[in-house]
Amino acid sequence: MIPNEVIIDLGAIRHNLSEIKRLAGPEARIAAVVKSDAYGHGMVPVAQTLESAGVDYFGVFEFQEALDLRQAGCKVPILIMMGITADEVSAVVENHLTAALFDRDIAEKLSSTALKRGVTVPVHVKVDTGMTRLGVAWTDVVHFLESLLPLKGIWLEGIFSHLAVADAPDEPFTGEQILRFLQAVEQSRRLGVCQEAIHVANSGALLGKRGLDLGMIRPGILLYGSPPSEGWKAASTFRPAMTFRSKVVQVRRVPAGTSVSYGRTYTTPESAVIATIPVGYDDGYSRKLSNQGEVLLHGSRVPVVGRVCMNLTMLDVSSLQGVAVGDEVVLLGVQGEAQITAEEIAKMTGTISYDVYCSLGKSNRRTYVDS
Ligand SMILES: *Cc1c(COP(=O)(O)O)cnc(C)c1O
Repeated sequence: MIPNEVIIDLGAIRHNLSEIKRLAGPEARIAAVVKSDAYGHGMVPVAQTLESAGVDYFGVFEFQEALDLRQAGCKVPILIMMGITADEVSAVVENHLTAALFDRDIAEKLSSTALKRGVTVPVHVKVDTGMTRLGVAWTDVVHFLESLLPLKGIWLEGIFSHLAVADAPDEPFTGEQILRFLQAVEQSRRLGVCQEAIHVANSGALLGKRGLDLGMIRPGILLYGSPPSEGWKAASTFRPAMTFRSKVVQVRRVPAGTSVSYGRTYTTPESAVIATIPVGYDDGYSRKLSNQGEVLLHGSRVPVVGRVCMNLTMLDVSSLQGVAVGDEVVLLGVQGEAQITAEEIAKMTGTISYDVYCSLGKSNRRTYVDS
């Protein structure tokens, strides 16, 4: 069997939740964002861990994720952040899910379905304050809310918005978006709706202490142990939950002048020891790490040499003694005193830690530990 393994430390996720609570203050309710299979960490085990640690709400992207959580026995409220389609309405009502709402037709359908069943369905109105992605424009919120008032069977539980640049400290547009959101919140307050769940803060806003006094926050990446961007001191107490490891499958000494891998982009300057691992871009290990990445072996960093192939990657292990088939290689995470972070890989591959976690988590067998 391929020795590659993504290991998720559920204890780290619990630790990160308590760090989030410490930063947000004791009053803040937490809507934990577990979309995209909990950023590659596995939605169900992560959600079960968070639920037993007392999380207040879950945020998922789409309906099927919410249904999967319910079917796994999850009891806390679940917000479907992309909203729902007409054909999902009856299952949303039946499974006590919360839809993000920005569409009057969906509102009517939710209302009539809930009335037919004699229940009330919660919704959170989604306000677009400058992300220009999803939601009712902040300038149209009053009008939209007023149009919802006659609809019975819908509980206007909450109102929320999403920030475009909260990961950048001192970015003035975040202040602008929060002002727009507060204006919408005030309008909903005057109409007497949407006051139970008001939320705008993602991980960046939490670290920057923006929008934390509204009663609820909506963090994602910090739960998994990474800051949303570089330069946040307050993020240093968070612990990455994901490790990605493999094992050496071949070790060989080669003479000087030997080319390695496709395209012959690397040639050994002197006699070298090359170790091969069964990891490639198909496993979520980016081809951009060719001749660039480093991995951990015997507790030290060793370089990736030549191109990363679909299923194999070569390492120059000449700096180490006695490397053998079966030795553990850590591509993400800690080995001994050394560590490779998702931020480091993201920087080399021109992306963000979120993307590194999603790719590795989705492409590999996952096992769970609890530190
Ligand atoms: C992904 C997402 C979040 C979480 O963002 P992080 O940067 O991971 O904290 C919050 N709200 C919405 C609407 C999102 O799509």
